[in-house]
Amino acid sequence: MKRLSTICTWLLACLLAACATPGGAAKDATVTPDPAVEILQESDTLAHYRLANGLEVIVKPDRRAPTAIHMLWVRVGSIDENDGTTGIAHVLEHMMFKGSEKLAAGEFSRRVAELGGRDNAFTNRDYTGYFQQVPSAQLGAVMALEADRLATNQWPDEEFTRELEVIKEERRMRTDDQPRAKLFEQLMATAYLASPERRPVIGWMDDIAAITADEVRAFHRQWYVPGNAAVVVVGNVEPRQVLALAQRHYGAIPAGAIPARKISREPLQQGPRHLVLRDRAEQAVLLMAYKVPALTNITNPSSSDREALALMALDGVLSGYDGARLERSLTRGIPRLADSAGSSATLSGRSGNGLFLLSAIPAAGRSTAEVQQALQQAIQDVATHGISQQELRRVITQWSAATIYGQDSMYAQASELGSNWILGWPLDATERTLALLREVTPAQVQAVARKYFGGSALTIAELQPDSGAAPTSGQSVPATSMDIQGATQ
Ligand SMILES: [Zn+2]
Repeated sequence: MKRLSTICTWLLACLLAACATPGGAAKDATVTPDPAVEILQESDTLAHYRLANGLEVIVKPDRRAPTAIHMLWVRVGSIDENDGTTGIAHVLEHMMFKGSEKLAAGEFSRRVAELGGRDNAFTNRDYTGYFQQVPSAQLGAVMALEADRLATNQWPDEEFTRELEVIKEERRMRTDDQPRAKLFEQLMATAYLASPERRPVIGWMDDIAAITADEVRAFHRQWYVPGNAAVVVVGNVEPRQVLALAQRHYGAIPAGAIPARKISREPLQQGPRHLVLRDRAEQAVLLMAYKVPALTNITNPSSSDREALALMALDGVLSGYDGARLERSLTRGIPRLADSAGSSATLSGRSGNGLFLLSAIPAAGRSTAEVQQALQQAIQDVATHGISQQELRRVITQWSAATIYGQDSMYAQASELGSNWILGWPLDATERTLALLREVTPAQVQAVARKYFGGSALTIAELQPDSGAAPTSGQSVPATSMDIQGATQ
């Protein structure tokens, strides 16, 4: 019922939007772009431009509300960092709120609030992003603020020293005092030897403490150049007018050199790895990470891309809906084997690595060995008996629905466009991926279940409750289900 009413609201909103803009005219012919602007794509529903300094501008009109989302995406994240200064991308994200040529510390967010807006930022392995939502009439004002700190972020050393304490506290709260987050951090550090994915997004504590103000300033100069960034705007806007505003506010920033990237490739894993974390926790946790092919090309998929798509389908079959295979076999039945069980497939990223994760929290009286065996049995069942066409269809239907519901949120639409841009993918990558997923067959899913879960590219991480473990700085928050996050704010 809930889903039905959501889709009705969505359809109704679309109809109303269509009525409000006769002819659906999105282009404003009165606005002529600078001849140096490259028009990469332009239609009533989506526009993509490149300014002369290299900054890309992506605009998606959505006129259901008189607001606009403005996001700046910078193609730099923790995988671009170096040992010794891990966490620096996230540190810079914090410092972007601490001043610029025109603004004092904290003034950015105050100004956005005065415009009637809200703002935030996010750092991940592949990117750093900044977003504001404002009444659409204030889009130019918020662009002026964002362009200013992109070009001239600056702050005194004392401000930096103070903020570093905030960031260290963030790490304590989100990782050091959260045994499950720490387990995931250690899993990644063990599964990857050379790939930068082995480093946590927030950075290692000693590195955070040792980062200097000048290192952060240099990181900003190196990576925050127009050719390494994109502005995404979704809302009640006209693409050509957004382009004109972007030219006015961002166009004068000097192009700068786009930094060269050196991302280490992960050597082939040739045997299982196993780590144990003993920490203050109420329950044990088991994580099993298998290296699998990544999805790298969705316009002309290779056989390994097709395998990655089959692995996405396998993930859906295992845990993509209520009552899917892992839930049925591990968390239902009396007595229960696990309090929760799930899978997740991380198959796209700038590192080019794919990781398939199985996880479970053993029920009281059950061991990690027992849930490990059950998780492996679930994969074995697919490898031996395959899956049904109905199961696969259910997963695809679920994804199609999620893609449609994603259109409900301007934030989700902007995030999708930004994420696709970060990967260098076509902006309609979500629809293309869905179309490719529809081509996956049960036999392909069975084939990847047979091929990639043998154990030689497996890393197991186990959390064992230990009440005598060294005390951490705060109280761990008990969680009822797995909550593994790679992102940070
Ligand atoms: Zn943060």
